[in-house]
Parts: sequence; structure tokens; C-alpha cells
Amino acid sequence: MGKTKHPGPQKKVAMPAPKHWVSPIPFGLGKVKPKHIRDTMKTLWDNRDNFGYATNILTKGVCDGCALGVSGLHDQTLTGPHICTTRLNVLRLNTAGAIEPEILHADIDELRKYDSTQLRKLGRIPYPMIRRKGERKFSRITWDEAMDMIAEKMKKLDPKQYAFYLTSRGITNESYYVAGKVSRFLGTNNIDNASRICHSPSKTALKRSIGVGASTSNYQDWIGTDVLLFWGSVASNSSPVSSKYMLEAKKKGTKIIVVNPYKEPAMDKYWIPSNPESALFGTKIADDFYQVNIGGDIAFMHGIMKHWFEMEESKHGSAINHQFVEEHVNGYEEMKSKVQEQSWDDIVASSGITQERIIELAELLANSKNAVYAWALGLTMHSFATDNISQVANLALLRGHLGRKHAGLMPFRGHSSVQGSGEMGADPFVLPGGDFYGDNIKRIEKLWGFDLPDWQGDIVGVTLENILLPEDHERKIKMYYLSGGNFLETMPDPNFVEKALSDLDIRVHQDIILNTSTLVDAKEAVLVLPAKTRYEQEGGGTSTSTERMVYFSPEIEGNKNQVEEARAEWKIYIDLAKRVKPVTAHLVNFKDAQEIRNEIALANPNYDGIQHLKKAGDVFQWGGAWLCEDGTCPTPDGRGNLISVDIPELGKKEGQFIVTSRRGKQFNSMVYNEVDPLNGAGRYDVLMNAEDAQDLSIAEGEGIVLYNGFGVFQGRAKFVDITRGNVQVHFPEGNFLLPRGRYEKYAGIPDYNITVTLEKADRFNARKDVEHYEKRIEEDELDAPA
Ligand code: SF4
Repeated sequence: MGKTKHPGPQKKVAMPAPKHWVSPIPFGLGKVKPKHIRDTMKTLWDNRDNFGYATNILTKGVCDGCALGVSGLHDQTLTGPHICTTRLNVLRLNTAGAIEPEILHADIDELRKYDSTQLRKLGRIPYPMIRRKGERKFSRITWDEAMDMIAEKMKKLDPKQYAFYLTSRGITNESYYVAGKVSRFLGTNNIDNASRICHSPSKTALKRSIGVGASTSNYQDWIGTDVLLFWGSVASNSSPVSSKYMLEAKKKGTKIIVVNPYKEPAMDKYWIPSNPESALFGTKIADDFYQVNIGGDIAFMHGIMKHWFEMEESKHGSAINHQFVEEHVNGYEEMKSKVQEQSWDDIVASSGITQERIIELAELLANSKNAVYAWALGLTMHSFATDNISQVANLALLRGHLGRKHAGLMPFRGHSSVQGSGEMGADPFVLPGGDFYGDNIKRIEKLWGFDLPDWQGDIVGVTLENILLPEDHERKIKMYYLSGGNFLETMPDPNFVEKALSDLDIRVHQDIILNTSTLVDAKEAVLVLPAKTRYEQEGGGTSTSTERMVYFSPEIEGNKNQVEEARAEWKIYIDLAKRVKPVTAHLVNFKDAQEIRNEIALANPNYDGIQHLKKAGDVFQWGGAWLCEDGTCPTPDGRGNLISVDIPELGKKEGQFIVTSRRGKQFNSMVYNEVDPLNGAGRYDVLMNAEDAQDLSIAEGEGIVLYNGFGVFQGRAKFVDITRGNVQVHFPEGNFLLPRGRYEKYAGIPDYNITVTLEKADRFNARKDVEHYEKRIEEDELDAPA
């Protein structure tokens, strides 16, 4: 796609830059800040029984933490060490020994007393287990017994009645690929992955806007671009080493702008442990914050473009890159009229940003030759997420900020390997190398040698709903095969999720550790299969980073806590295929991981090169340094598409708040600390604006209640710098406020934002019997965003 190759790591600027320091007082003494040294010592202690293996993982393996991606301790962006506490925290998942038998086989209600953090700390799943209907304990079974039971059930079911799901817990491209192929071989297209609940709209929006659903830029583009714009992303917390690149960018004169309702402390000031200067004195990260309303981003971007068109009226070419638009972009006139029909009043009301401030950012971007636009879940977890992201692409296309050094679009992905899940075809709409559609189906059928199911599979949220369809419905899901994941703690409406999980005939959990979902009942049986980690997989495995680097992670020796019965995930899928359809199973058989990589290179032409990755440190970047290089997009006509979008209606009534969720000291749904060291917030703190609190006579620390027609959240008020009318709670604790079934219409991500009423707990509790519980639910109901 792109012809320019990534140049590899560049040298850091050696000179310290005191102007970016938080304070000349070393180590941020007296400030609320991450405790990196303490966290590192804790990791050393946690891994003391398997220290050599832990060291081997860190020095030879590809990080299974975030999607920034690193092999060993050195990355592709900057020379120097690359390590962070997120990686150190997840390390124990790979070095832990098996769960003690007396705990593992205790009464299920004893196990249910543990939360997911405690379950994780118990250790690894040691062998296949089953808990049949009515049984109080898990019992050990053999692999043969477990796989036969799963296969027998599958043979009895219509393939539309079972489904596969894969999380992103370090799963390799090889496992995603084999899962996608085996599920279609078995006859089901019900296969989905964890990106459905984080970044699927990024892919959908980028495909329609520029023809390719991946980051067009790389991290080096940050360093020296004029503006690095983070939209709904706390990159320094989700991918801590990215803050090192931010500091380097600032030293090269880059302005960092953050758009977020909450002035996130980690994007304001950060102490970067792997940079001595920053570790000592801290780094002021953002040059400016725009504290937009939750859901007000589309309006904000309309405001930026509206001012651009106003600038154009005074001087042609003062804001729009006309040459780029003429040569490379469709839909200019339609876009212009859509933007011009928006009133400033509507823009300001929806965004919560004043016209003057919007103009400031508009002019900064108009005067910037280069900009990189990065975003994360603040834009993707909405019912209008695809429009949010196409709107970002609209900005880049109008300015020509695409397809070259220091300019591009960058979805900032969360978990190591999640980028590869869709690219390998573990997605109901996607096959390797293209969509589940038209010629690509024919191409893959030819390569694989069997017919693919000719019906559209369902996304994870719909699959969960389909479990509760009437018994005789042809799409009633009766068996769910889960490779990791904890729906109870990631999906909206956990009560519904629990009901759905327990209504399956058979649920399979192929995993490393137990979590709360594993402990839910099923109508016939819950089967638990011990998976290998990415570092144990025979023949190694690959994972794809946010910037499209495909890294090879070798099999790593020296695990003193080896789980003897654990199996590589791709091998388990093949075993299943052999038991369900023994006569033709050779079509999905692979003798080793290399053979899988050889086939991936054919199935997904972007991955041509994966077959040559063989040892630690081997890496290639698919698509080259920049997608859409020189403005040529992989769309049918080679041009980017401006997409006109409407300002969404949020259904917020007078006096209500909009709530969204945020991550604290956690990695995805795995919580590592009850208190967020970045702001001192506890898991049940509600982050709110002090003036809003004053209006409701709420004191800091006071018990408050958020409620709507779907749920109630009881927490404590914590005053922070957040835009009025907006509140934040932690994920997943706040999921009880969210209804099921509100999906983004193009990408199917659930909407994780909702309107709520907020009041003092005393007031709520005094009136709850008469004013809430006896009230018809529609009266508390809100209009969910369309
Ligand atoms: S920033 Fe991400 S890729 Fe780098 S070490 Fe931390 S978790 Fe791993």
C-alpha cells in the first residue's frame, strides 16, 4: 500500500528540556502521581518464584500488555529501554502456577466469593474441568472427554445455534486465524472478538472514509508534527510508554492538544519511568485541553470546519488544502453545505466549548502543515461512533493531513493483538484480506477448499441476546465457545448478561485464569479448558500493534510453573474440528505455527512477510510507514470520502447528567488497584464538577446516587476538573446503568454513555419507595441516543 518503509528506531534528543518539567522538585514529591518504583518492586516480589522466566519474557517476548507493541525491551520508535508498569502488572498471568486444588474444587459459592481480581491471583487453570447442571463443584476431566462432549453437542446443533468469541488477552494472530477458519469450517459465521467493544467503529469509519481500517501513521510521526491531537484518549495511562514519544515530540516543537470532558491528570502531567529526566522532574504533556461534553465531539468538529469555511470566505486557501481536496477527496460541496447549515448556537450547546475556543483550535490546525489525529474509546464507545470517527477523518482530509510523514489518522488501540483479530477474520463481517462479502468470499473458499456459511453471523451483543430467544427459534444460541473474555464485567446490563450466560446449554471457557463469568451456571454444563499463554505456544506466535507492526514472539523456555495440560489455542480449535467433522478436517489442519503463518501470508496479502518472521525481534510493518501515501487511498476510485454527519441528539433532559466510564488503575477489565494513583479516585467515586455539586448541595465525599430507567449506581462525589453536566464512573462498575441492545448502527459497539439523574444518597433513599420503585419505568426512562 505505502511505498515508504519505516526507518526503525531514531535517537532521542539528549538535552534535557526544563520547560516541559512539572516541577524542579524531584520525583513529584507531594504530588498525586503514579508510584512506578513501588509498582516495579511489587512485580519483582510477585514473580519471585519464577524470576528467570519472567526475565526471559520481558527480554525476548512481545509485550502482551497494550497495543503499542514492543519486542523485548526495545521498540521501533526510539532507541533506549521500553518497559512500563502495565506490562509488569500483566506479567504474573504468564508466570503464575496452577490454582490450588482445594480452592479450585471448592463449592461454587465459595469461589463466587472472590472477585475477578482475587480469582486472577489464584493462578492458572491447571487442567480441563466440568461443572454439570446441579453440581456444586468443578471436577477434573480429560482433554478427550471435554473435547468429545463439546463436539457431540456441536454435531447436534444447527451451526447458527453456536458461536465463538475471542478476547484480546495476548491471543496471537495464529490463534485468531485458525479460530476464524475453523468456525467457518464447522458451518458458523457467529464469531466475534473483543474489538467489538472497543475499536470496531474505528475500522468501520476509516474504511468508508479512506478505504482502510487501520492507523495510517506510526508513532514516529508524532515526533515533530505541528499538532498531535488526542481525542477521547488517555494514551499516557493506557499505553504508558507513549508518553515517552510525547516528550520527544514536545522537544521537537509539537503542540499536544487533548479533547476530553475530564482534564485527565495523566495527560496533564506524567512521570515517565524509562526517561530519567521525566522520572525525576515529570513532564507537562498537554499544551491545551478542550473539555468537550460527552457526545459533543461531532458538534465540536463541525465548529472547527465551520470556522475553516468562514476563513475561506476572507481568503481562499487559508484553511482548506484545496490541492489535496481536488486531487484526492470526494464530497467537498456536500460537506461544506452540511457544515454551513450548522448554527454556532447548536455547535456550542452540543460541544460545551465556546465559539472563541473552537476558533482557536480551528486556526491552530489551519496554520499547521502537519497534524496527527489520535483517538480512543472516548470517540468509539458511542451509538454514533462511526460518525464521530469519520468526522475526524473529515478534518484530516480537508487539511490534507494524511499519508505522509507527520500527518495521519491513528486509532489508539488498547490490547496487544487486538489489531490482528479482525485482520485474521475472527469477525462476522470480515475474512482474512477483506470483508465477508462478494469476491473475497470466493477467494477465501478457493484458498481454504470448502464453502463458507452463506449467512451473516452476529456480533457479540446480539449473540448474547439470541441466547434468550424461544426454544424453537433457528438462531437461538445454545452453546457459546469463549476464548477468554468476561462479559459479566465488560458488557452493559450485567444482570441480563448473567441470565443469558446461564441459559446456554453448554458454555466453554478456554482461558488462562478463572473470572466471574466462568462461575455462572449453565443448563447442561460449563467446560473449562486450560490455554497456553502466547509465550508457551509451540513455534511462537505473532501479534500486530496499533501502528501495524507485526511482531514475532518466540516460545520462551524456563517456566518453573509450567501448566502441563495447557494447550496452544490454535491446536484446540483444530482438535475440535477433527472431532466434529473428522472426514474433512484435514482442510483446517496445520502441522505447526509456521504453516499457519505461511497460509496467513496468502489469505491476507497485507500480511505477506509474516511467513519470514522466525526469531525474537523479527518484525515487519504491513502497509509501509504510511497508508494512503501521497493521498492515494485504497478506495475503489483512490480518493478519500468526506462524510457528512449530523449532530447527535443525546436525549438529555433539563437537570440530567451524562455519564461515561473511565479506567482507573486497571488494564481493560482487570483492576490492579482500588485507588487510581493518578487522581486518588476510588472505584466507586463519581467524578463530577464542583459547581454542579454545589447546585445540588452535595459535599465532596458525600454519598450520591446516579439512576435512570435501567439501573442505580451508588457512589461518592469526587470533585474534579470536568465539564459541567458530565460525570464519570469507573468501568465496569458503572455498567449497571447501561441497557442492553443499544448498538452503534454500523459497527455494533454497545453505547457506554447514558443520561442519568444525580442526587444525594440521603434524598434518594428517603424517597425511593414512593418516587422510584413505584413509578412506572417509562417515567424514569430516557431517550437513548438514536
Ligand atoms: S507501553 Fe504497552 S507495549 Fe509498551 S511495555 Fe507498556 S504495555 Fe507493553
